[in-house]
Amino acid sequence: MNYRHAFHAGNHADVLKHIVQLALLDTFKRKDSPFFVLDTHGGAGRYLLASEESRKTLEAEEGVMRLMAQPKLPAVVERYLKAVQADNPVGAMISYPGSPLLSAQTLREQDRMAVCELQDAEAASLKALFAHDSRVAVLHADGYAQNKALLPPKANGVKIGRGLVLIDPPYEGQDAEYQRILASVSEILARWPQASFAIWFPIKQRRTILHFLRKACALPVKSVLTVELLVRPDDSPLRLNGSGMLLLNPPWQFDQVLAPAMPALKQYLGEAGASTRLQWLKQAE
Ligand code: SAM
Repeated sequence: MNYRHAFHAGNHADVLKHIVQLALLDTFKRKDSPFFVLDTHGGAGRYLLASEESRKTLEAEEGVMRLMAQPKLPAVVERYLKAVQADNPVGAMISYPGSPLLSAQTLREQDRMAVCELQDAEAASLKALFAHDSRVAVLHADGYAQNKALLPPKANGVKIGRGLVLIDPPYEGQDAEYQRILASVSEILARWPQASFAIWFPIKQRRTILHFLRKACALPVKSVLTVELLVRPDDSPLRLNGSGMLLLNPPWQFDQVLAPAMPALKQYLGEAGASTRLQWLKQAE
């Protein structure tokens, strides 16, 4: 595997993904009952913005840093920026927190999380970050293959009903990745039918993802919502022109939580021809 998230941390795709992730977890926190997070592709957990990788691509400059420069943003975006700032207590933006750290910041005493990561260095980084957090289990393992071991989720032997599965693979073998995601979601639903899912997907040319989205709608879920940010027209198969989050069984009216963020993301992260989309592909009756 060649993929290293350090080259991309804090880019427009991370911004979209992490805004959605935090907004989902915040809605779970409206009730006291515990929730569980399964982060199947955890990455390193924290990324230094002064690293050689980050300085090579400068992707964070065109992502999170552009938002940091704005005096006022919608509450759902401000909430995300506060979470990023909480990982930078001295004030200057030194590091960018990945999905497992952002979730861990949000968990309460009663909530639990499991994070999987396949690569040695990334898994070691996660283990070090969460060594003293008993709510978080780090597995140096294939995130698609842990469903039997982890689900249905439990805390102190008691089943946890609600929760989020975050699936954020590198898409190195694109078609195969879509197949693995769909197979894994089916398996998870069989063991944990109440699960909500947030699945990140790249957009180079949008038509190439339509088959995947159609297949996702055929899964035994009540509702399917997609949220997309194209930072430029999706006319080239060679560039990451945008990305989306496919949400299965999201909270009721979750589109209304995200809607205020969309114009700001387009305005501050987009180039000419940028666009956003927030669309129910299947709605609970
Ligand atoms: N979710 C992270 C975040 O938002 O901060 C970023 C994850 S990055 C896009 C994808 C990660 O998945 C990489 O660190 C890669 O090593 C890891 N990976 C690839 N295949 C995997 C698999 N089958 N199981 C677990 N991790 C995998």
